[in-house]
Amino acid sequence: MAAERPDTGGEVIWRVSRIQPENHDVTSMFLEGKDAKFAARRAGQYAVIRVMRPEGWSEPHPFTISCAPEADYLQFTIKAAGAFTSSVRNIEPGTPVKCLGPNGTFCRDIDDRPSVVLIAGGVGITPFLSVLRHFHAKGASNEVMLFWSNKTFEDVFCLEEISGMSNALNLKVVHNLSREDDPKRHLRGGYPNVVFESGRLDAGVLSRYGVNPKAAFYLCGPPPMMDSVLQELSTLGVDPEAVEREKFSWK
Ligand SMILES: Cc1cc2nc3c(=O)[nH]c(=O)nc-3n(C[C@H](O)[C@H](O)[C@H](O)COP(=O)(O)OP(=O)(O)OC[C@H]3O[C@@H](n4cnc5c(N)ncnc54)[C@H](O)[C@@H]3O)c2cc1C
Repeated sequence: MAAERPDTGGEVIWRVSRIQPENHDVTSMFLEGKDAKFAARRAGQYAVIRVMRPEGWSEPHPFTISCAPEADYLQFTIKAAGAFTSSVRNIEPGTPVKCLGPNGTFCRDIDDRPSVVLIAGGVGITPFLSVLRHFHAKGASNEVMLFWSNKTFEDVFCLEEISGMSNALNLKVVHNLSREDDPKRHLRGGYPNVVFESGRLDAGVLSRYGVNPKAAFYLCGPPPMMDSVLQELSTLGVDPEAVEREKFSWK
């Protein structure tokens, strides 16, 4: 389907093709359309979207494009936080969505980094979903460690897909479940590179999995979690200034 270009603003109109619940409060919205700028996007970039409502276009909201840049659609993976994000699950297929972008430079040079450490808190995984899907699409050989913090196992999503990629890529996945006492019960046969830890992500966990302080570090999550992780990384000799970060808040 060819995208319609509005008169102003550089926004391109796409249409919802599918709404997919990922877990109890995270939903993926898939858009179909075509646009040269979005076709040239990079993993980790975001778009500012407006959804057509009966009363007109919604206010703009920024979301990371969570699919691979190789995909011929757009995917946004959205956690219910307030009125707009909580309404995403009820959006009907066919609904027009204006997209402004792609924006951002997070993970821009990641293809060229031989050893990368990705650290996500909750829905802060979305830029890394794009990166991993991109690495998978191109058969990348970079050494990748993913540390993903969630409160409970029920908060984790895309588990099958990420676990599968841990066998296809040079990828180790450490799930940190801060409120689970017995995280090891989630271990599954066939995925030796996927492990579960309890408690918050600290220097002990990072060093136990052999994090290389010389690797390229990327961090995305709630601001308090990001501050705490930077502190922990600094005790391992990682310069916090060298950690690339994406903030999902704009305060
Ligand atoms: C670059 C970028 C990429 C993002 N990518 C994703 C993504 O992939 N998935 C995803 O789920 N979310 C993402 N977000 C966050 C998302 O844009 C917001 O959660 C969403 O716009 C909130 O809209 P709402 O109306 O549902 O909630 P609101 O009612 O507007 O707010 C929800 C929560 O956010 C807080 N909040 C409101 N305004 C601000 C503000 N200006 N700054 C900080 N906090 C505020 C509120 O206090 C409340 O706790 C991203 C944000 C940015 C900046």
